[in-house]
Amino acid sequence: MVFFSRKKIIIANLKMYLSNHLEMEQWLKGIQNVFKSNNYEETILVVCPPFVFLEKAYKELRLKQRKNIFLGAQDCFWESRGAFTGEVGATMLVSQGVKYVILGHSERRRLWGEDNQVIAIKIKAALKEGLIPLLCIGENARERKRYNLKTVLYRQLKECLSGVGKGRIEDIIICYEPVWAISANGPRRLPTTNEIMEAGLIIKKFLVEEYGERRAKRMTIIYGGSVSRSNAWAVSGAANLNGVLVGKASTSPFELAKIMQQLDKEGE
Ligand code: 13P
Repeated sequence: MVFFSRKKIIIANLKMYLSNHLEMEQWLKGIQNVFKSNNYEETILVVCPPFVFLEKAYKELRLKQRKNIFLGAQDCFWESRGAFTGEVGATMLVSQGVKYVILGHSERRRLWGEDNQVIAIKIKAALKEGLIPLLCIGENARERKRYNLKTVLYRQLKECLSGVGKGRIEDIIICYEPVWAISANGPRRLPTTNEIMEAGLIIKKFLVEEYGERRAKRMTIIYGGSVSRSNAWAVSGAANLNGVLVGKASTSPFELAKIMQQLDKEGE
């Protein structure tokens, strides 16, 4: 399986923002309405609800028949079965119709102590089951002050992708998400298009060095951190990236529609 698409990808990470069935149901209805009035030919939407709402999302959005909306999970465990209380493995996700999984998110790194080594194991487990991992990398405020960006990103990429063979690298999406720019972290400012472009170039350089130019060129790199309808084009298309990872703003189907419109029409 090689994931390769020149369509822009919009990943809606709902985190734990919608906390009951009713809220989830309303959100799903909103998404259905959004897709009734526009087909978004040039974009793919990946919906990442909490585990407990995956089945509901799959059914209500009729994902079996759709080619432009897919289901994603916010995390997965590295084992497929056994005595692992509270965990959800990649095999289980696949059986629910999940195609993508977010791994290495800074909230999991910070709150659950996930490090690059754990993330590398999860990436391999996800790939083994046929899921497309979305690897989140990015510097926090302290790292931004102390180190050069290339040092931070190279280290995360090297360690998180360790053991991933050349033949599988194109199945991974990389998201540059500076931790200080995430809305929940109360950013004082957002990265400029040039800063995001610079991070994108560092990531591409790493991929070229490790996996060769042909593979690197085909890889999908996106941006995450306070994406909204007012900046979607500036943080993605204008920075030469292939899409966005949206947190808080994705809880509004209307806002999400505006973001998709921007990327669908290449910012016009
Ligand atoms: P916000 O879009 O709320 O900043 O969240 C970004 C994020 O963490 C996406 O995974």
